[in-house]
Amino acid sequence: MTIPFFNYPALFSDQEAKFVEIFKTVGRRGAFIMQDDLRKFEERVAAYSGAAHAIGVANATDGLELLLSAGGIGPGDEVIFCSHTMVATAGAIHSVGATPVPAEVGADHLIDVDKIESLITERTRAIMPTQLNGRVADMDKILAITSKHKLDLYEDAAQGLGASYKGRFAGTFGKGGCISFYPAKNLGCFGDGGLVLTNDTKLYHAMMAMRDHGRDPQTGDIVGWGRNSRLDNLQAAILAHLFEDYDGIVARRRAIAARYDQRLKRINSLVLPPPPDADPERFDVFQNYEIEADRRDDLKAHLSANGIGTLIQWGGKAVHQYPALKLSARLPHTETLMARMIMLPLNLSITDDEVDAVCDAIESFYAHG
Ligand SMILES: *Cc1c(COP(=O)(O)O)cnc(C)c1O
Repeated sequence: MTIPFFNYPALFSDQEAKFVEIFKTVGRRGAFIMQDDLRKFEERVAAYSGAAHAIGVANATDGLELLLSAGGIGPGDEVIFCSHTMVATAGAIHSVGATPVPAEVGADHLIDVDKIESLITERTRAIMPTQLNGRVADMDKILAITSKHKLDLYEDAAQGLGASYKGRFAGTFGKGGCISFYPAKNLGCFGDGGLVLTNDTKLYHAMMAMRDHGRDPQTGDIVGWGRNSRLDNLQAAILAHLFEDYDGIVARRRAIAARYDQRLKRINSLVLPPPPDADPERFDVFQNYEIEADRRDDLKAHLSANGIGTLIQWGGKAVHQYPALKLSARLPHTETLMARMIMLPLNLSITDDEVDAVCDAIESFYAHG
């Protein structure tokens, strides 16, 4: 038996006939760039997330860059982010000319809210937490810090579509947040895609122009400098179809997480994420099932020998641990955690029996180790 970490071909083959039909209808209309499918998809995601506006963009990293630059973040500014994130979070800050300031990760694998204030300087302009693994950070504490120090809040919600905290959705707590449609994300397209959520109408209009060469969508006039970062209409049509059953997708992911929790919670050598119903204030969408494991690398090798694919997020390195990026920070807790974390397969292809087989293999590793 082999259980891949993620089954990319299944993304297409599961509904091949439907996708071919979408390709035909979009293609026959010649509706390739900025057409109705994109507009409708943006409206649906905005309504679902309770955001005033959604803007389809080429990928989530572009979305962060557009957000930060529309929000006036630039050279001389510092932006605090959690170092346990994709390099893209920091890369977006760097790309607008600002300085990324890495913060510690907490026990929940999200930004450690108690370690943020010590990083604030007179140059700090914003905090940008990553809503990692489909879970929202402690936003009450983060918002208390941003209001006390008059900072802006941006969210890397690339992994957070549909995740909520006290009834508010990832990407809607501050100036805006990005969502990624990379194929392995909860809502994945057939290539690159992303979206920005914002409640700020001024930012919305600025980003709508910026993603399309600085063109005002109504008049076609150039109203400022821009770039090309449009979400393809064909990708939007595919995403709109998949989004129709997004609640079903999330429900299945939460069921798999609950099953892992039931089976693995008695193993002392592991630390698991909170199960789906652990906290009434939170709704987690389980983009990943990231656990902490004693003897992590041996466990990974054991699972691999049993045909089970796992993934160590970001190759086991936090952003500040890449010497080439010259982010001179020491984050001891993050560095300890990075050596312990591993992600188990959690996707729409895996069956309950396969989840059990993964758990059996983990049990046998710790029973005989
Ligand atoms: C996937 C991801 C991104 C980048 O998304 P793209 O759409 O590939 O640009 C950024 N941040 C996090 C946390 C991600 O998981």
